[in-house]
Amino acid sequence: MKRYLLLSVLVITVFFLFITGCGIKDHQFQGEREAGEAIAPLAESSPEGLSVFKPTDPAQLKVHFLDVGQADAILIQLPDQQTMLIDAGNNDDGSAVVSYLQQRGINKINYLVGTHPHEDHICGLDEVINTLEIGQVYLPKVIHNTKTFEDVFLALRSKGLKVNPAHAGVTLLKQDNLKVNLLSPAGTEYKEINDWSVVIRVQYGDKAFLLTGDAEIQAEEEMLAAGLELQANILKVGHHGSRSSTTSAFLAAVAPEYAVISVGRDNDYGHPHAETLARLAQMGVQVYRTDVEGTLVFTTDGQKMSIERQGSKLKTDQAEGQSPVAGNEKVAGESTGSGSNGVLIGNKRSKIFHQSTCSSLPVEKNRVYYATREEALSDGLAPCINCKP
Ligand SMILES: [Zn+2]
Ligand SMILES: [Zn+2]
Repeated sequence: MKRYLLLSVLVITVFFLFITGCGIKDHQFQGEREAGEAIAPLAESSPEGLSVFKPTDPAQLKVHFLDVGQADAILIQLPDQQTMLIDAGNNDDGSAVVSYLQQRGINKINYLVGTHPHEDHICGLDEVINTLEIGQVYLPKVIHNTKTFEDVFLALRSKGLKVNPAHAGVTLLKQDNLKVNLLSPAGTEYKEINDWSVVIRVQYGDKAFLLTGDAEIQAEEEMLAAGLELQANILKVGHHGSRSSTTSAFLAAVAPEYAVISVGRDNDYGHPHAETLARLAQMGVQVYRTDVEGTLVFTTDGQKMSIERQGSKLKTDQAEGQSPVAGNEKVAGESTGSGSNGVLIGNKRSKIFHQSTCSSLPVEKNRVYYATREEALSDGLAPCINCKP
């Protein structure tokens, strides 16, 4: 009996996070999606859509940055067919994430990571846990002092899943060609909950991804001071492009070719901040945003890299009859721009600028005009990935 009690106490105290609660639907994101609207269904890549890889080639790593509005959800399909899911968006994103996975024939998540106890990262997890088979679960060890994230915790418990504490130094995978390491959190105390974010570096062959959750300056400085290998070809920009993340020093150490900002259109925080976009532009980093591009999938065989758009669940501010995303579309290594009459057209809302011939121009009221690329960049706008102004 005594032993049973002790065990119960242990089980209950094994893991704790603190958040403001998953059950409450966050009204500030309501405008971004229509009721019942889900992530656009996945079609299999057409041979010409993804010409450098065969869709069935098993020796690929695929990293999906799901468009979940002002939130994060990242799916990784490992070359050995195992899967990793990092965050699952807000509470009402859970079912969209689940159907995205099921449409790909994914019924098991081998590694499930909740980066930190903010609702835009972990509140969709309970649906994933309840619906799919789950292998190992990793969460940062944040001491709770308010409400637990009940739905997630209950889902884990009802499945008898144990939580592995996520911290710097943990190796999730170490194979010849594939390494998945946790680089943060290293500390035991952070002022900002965001700095508890689990930071993950995935290296496959010559290509690396750095996925930083909402990690801010303190966590970035710790990673720099620890002399960790930070270099990555693709950086998932911290905290939805907030100015409190992605310092110049951190960016210089990562030295990415591409950056992905997981962000909701017209969010209340003004993310991504102009300062972050300017720092990325200064480093010559090609920026992709889920609010502009929808879900983005990076595929690599360890040497070559391909990027596809998988559609957006968000409404766009495109002119009528125009669609920024038409099914699967290869967006890297391909130029669709066809000259310009010299005027560049920026979008005040998305902070992207285009050639005047681009098919994704903003509606009139959101336009701002620039004479030069430098002018647009210095105004904090990022170039469109289609027309490459
Ligand atoms: Zn967040
Ligand atoms: Zn956060």
